[in-house]
Amino acid sequence: MRVEPAGGKFADPAHPGGDVVDAGDAAPALVVVLGGNQQPVVVGEDAGAIERLWEKVWWASHYGGKGGPTVLALSAFDIALWDLKARRANLPLWRLLGGYDAAVPCYAGGIDLHLTPDQLLRQSDDSVKRGFRAIKMKVGRERLSEDVEKLAAMRAHFGDGFPLMVDANMKWTVAEAIRAARAFAPYEPVWLEEPIIPDDVEGHSRVATEGGLPIATGENFRTIWEFRHAITVGKISFPEPDVTNCGGVTTFMKVAHLAECFNLPVTSHGAHDLTVHLLAACPNRSYLEAHGFGLDDFVEAPLKIADGKAIAPDRPGHGVAFDWTALEKLKAE
Ligand SMILES: [Mg+2]
Repeated sequence: MRVEPAGGKFADPAHPGGDVVDAGDAAPALVVVLGGNQQPVVVGEDAGAIERLWEKVWWASHYGGKGGPTVLALSAFDIALWDLKARRANLPLWRLLGGYDAAVPCYAGGIDLHLTPDQLLRQSDDSVKRGFRAIKMKVGRERLSEDVEKLAAMRAHFGDGFPLMVDANMKWTVAEAIRAARAFAPYEPVWLEEPIIPDDVEGHSRVATEGGLPIATGENFRTIWEFRHAITVGKISFPEPDVTNCGGVTTFMKVAHLAECFNLPVTSHGAHDLTVHLLAACPNRSYLEAHGFGLDDFVEAPLKIADGKAIAPDRPGHGVAFDWTALEKLKAE
């Protein structure tokens, strides 16, 4: 099994006619990283030696591209390699990665900062009707009292013990985040997500210790080293990698194992159809984020959610196939 030039096919000569993945599916970003003088770095290599290929791409683009789109492209390449490996083994990816439990606790991640309390409750009721038993809401309104009002309304509506998360999307300074965490604490959110910019590692430590809430972050980290610092120095409680931007399946699983070494759960950001496989392979998994971007309309078999759990499918590979007919409607002229 060898890697062929971008735009061609990843094919396994031992399985002619099968096990072929079109490299064009791996998105233009992959071509950008691997194109030109980067492409020869992997052409002709064994596509099953994923760690080796990951290192080659990483170091070939390290000087000018550590982080940013380079890692997004590397992530796409890495995801394609893991999908191929699982398909060759005729296993769903979660089983290839170790296999723990296909039923993964998940929450509904709403895009709801603009909603009034009543609108937020209606949207959340709809999420519960769709099978969710945990909900994340956005915070970071102009006045902290608006956030507190909405969180209080959610807690009163769903009752004690219903898992609620809050996500500030890097909105605050350290001092503002501490103040917000203290105001939210009586309503017992599972975690406070991205209270400040990801780069302020010491700031996370202050928010965690002085604010008194568990902190989740990681969707804007691009390396395993950033996660290490966030855990050891930043005192975060829920590492939250995104498989599409942290370096792919390879890095996501390393972050999950790193968290396990620190007796921490691992959660996730984005790409829930794929990420369900990764958390289904982790004994220390926390909640899967089922995001609210509405992408389900464009995949052939959207993720199944029932009674608060997302079910990792048993199709070989990651099993995510786009619905090209649905996507056709969005085609730019
Ligand atoms: Mg977030």
